[in-house]
Amino acid sequence: YSSTAEKFDFFYLVQQWPGSFCDTRQGCCFPDTGKPAAGFGIHGLWPNYAKCRGGQQGLARAMLGDAGAFLSAVGRRGKCWPEYCDDGNPLRPWEIRDLVASLDRNWPTLSCKSGRSLEFWSYEWKKHGTCSNLGQHDYFERALALKARHDLAAVIAGAGIVPSDTDTYALSSVSDAIARGTGFAATLECNRDAGGEVQLFQVYQCVDREGKELIDCPLAMRSKCADQVKLPVF
Ligand code: 5GP
Ligand code: 5GP
Repeated sequence: YSSTAEKFDFFYLVQQWPGSFCDTRQGCCFPDTGKPAAGFGIHGLWPNYAKCRGGQQGLARAMLGDAGAFLSAVGRRGKCWPEYCDDGNPLRPWEIRDLVASLDRNWPTLSCKSGRSLEFWSYEWKKHGTCSNLGQHDYFERALALKARHDLAAVIAGAGIVPSDTDTYALSSVSDAIARGTGFAATLECNRDAGGEVQLFQVYQCVDREGKELIDCPLAMRSKCADQVKLPVF
């Protein structure tokens, strides 16, 4: 590695369930390419430490306050991942032009800030990709390749977990299905729909430092989940 190489331990490949992004109080908007398919979409490929470093406690933390992206990266537990590693390396769209069609299908924005998925990819590249030790093209190509290897919606459908606005599923049946179907334990995150019901929101699969192979997650459950969760229709 060069002296500037980031020494993270693994990546999270984070995929979001569009039904659970959209049915919140905040709602969602479709990208200018149209309504995405009813499958998981990529949120990001995030370099991560296996152990958080140098936690701040008490007064220092109180003085910093408890809001914002800064404290999600450098919080009570310390710095848990690197971010924004190179301001001088913004995403250059022409470098990924051959991937755009696939990115539009697999990494669509659902935010109402802009209908342009390119803005989402640029943000993810700037915040996380610049810490990955990968070039822009490899970074996006590897995320797409990892997602393509296992269709998570199909994997959980194989266990009878299909989108429904009424049924709930045991959280353990979702994690078991993913572990069996992909060969590796993942980490699950839930959110709440507009009515306050707990639903599966994001799946965090752990990936080696090259961004090539799945690994068992060194860190456990992200929670915000209940024992029973919904998987809303998108
Ligand atoms: P939230 O607070 O909504 O969970 O996360 C806000 C942002 O912080 C995410 O979009 C992501 O950029 C970053 N983030 C949250 N959790 C993690 C994590 O475990 N690892 C990394 N690398 N980034 C994270
Ligand atoms: P992170 O959670 O990576 O820090 O932040 C995600 C950022 O990307 C947010 O500022 C959010 O507004 C923007 N964004 C654009 N499209 C999406 C999307 O489809 N899902 C999520 N989670 N964030 C999106």
